[in-house]
Amino acid sequence: MIKIKSAQEIELMRESALIVSKTLGMLAAEVKPGVTTLALDTLAETFIRDHGGVPGFLGLYDFPNSLCMSPNAQVVHGIPNKQPLQEGDIISIDCGVLKNEFYGDHAYTFEVGEVSPETKKLLQITKESLYIGIREFKTGNRVGDVGYAIQKFTEDHGYGVVRELVGHGLGKEMHEDPEMPNYGKRGRGKKFVEGMTVAIEPMTNLGTKSIKQLKDGWTILTADGKPSAHFEHNIAIINGKPELLSTFQYIYDVLGIKSNEEDEFRQTKLQS
Ligand code: MG
Ligand code: MG
Repeated sequence: MIKIKSAQEIELMRESALIVSKTLGMLAAEVKPGVTTLALDTLAETFIRDHGGVPGFLGLYDFPNSLCMSPNAQVVHGIPNKQPLQEGDIISIDCGVLKNEFYGDHAYTFEVGEVSPETKKLLQITKESLYIGIREFKTGNRVGDVGYAIQKFTEDHGYGVVRELVGHGLGKEMHEDPEMPNYGKRGRGKKFVEGMTVAIEPMTNLGTKSIKQLKDGWTILTADGKPSAHFEHNIAIINGKPELLSTFQYIYDVLGIKSNEEDEFRQTKLQS
C-alpha cells in the first residue's frame, strides 16, 4: 500500500534527507587515495548522530554498518572494510538517516583521484539518467514512465541496467510501496499522486546488466567485473510536480562543481 504524506510529513522527510546530503558532503572532502571505507563509515556515523539523526542502515535487515560502500565493480550493498581506496577507483556511497520517525536515503558515486574517461562518462550518464527519471515522477504518470525513461537513456549509451535491485517508496519505512525499477514500459504500473515520496536510484553497469552476490550475503557486483555507478535522490510530489528532498549541492560545494541540475526540481529554496 502506498503511504501518502502530508505537507508536514514531507518537511520532516526533507530534514532527514538533508542530513544524508550533508553527510555525503562531509565525506566528499575525505574520499581520497589511502582512506579506508571503514574510516569513512565511522566519520559518517558520528556526523549523523551529531546532527540529531540515527544511521538508517545500521542494523536494518542486520546490515553491520552505517554506509553501504561499493567500490568499482560493486553495484550496491558493499560492507565497509579496511582496504584503502586507490587512485582511479570509484566508490558508491549509499547513506540512510532516520530522524523524527522518517528516513532519508541517498547515494553518490565519487571519483577517487583521477579516473578513466570511460568511467567518468559512466558516472555522468548515470547521474543524468536519475534526473531524466525524476522528471517523469509527477501526478498522472505511472511507475513505468520513470523506469522507461531511465532505461531508454541508459541503454542508448550502451550500458547495462540492473534489474534485480530497484528504487522504492520512502517514509517511516526505508522500503515502502511502490517499487521503482530503473526499467519498464510507458503507462504501466501504479499511478503517481500528490504527496507520494520515493527514492529513485539508477544502478548502471559499464558492461553487462548481470550481477552476482558475494558470499557475505550483502555485496552485489557486476558479473563481468566492470565498474558500476549508483546515484539516488529522494523526491516528493508537491503541486503535482517532483520536488527534490535531497541535494548533491553539499558535495558540489566541496568538489568545486558548478551545477544547476537540481533547480527545476526545487519549489522550496535550499536552506544553507
Ligand atoms: Mg540508498
Ligand atoms: Mg534506496
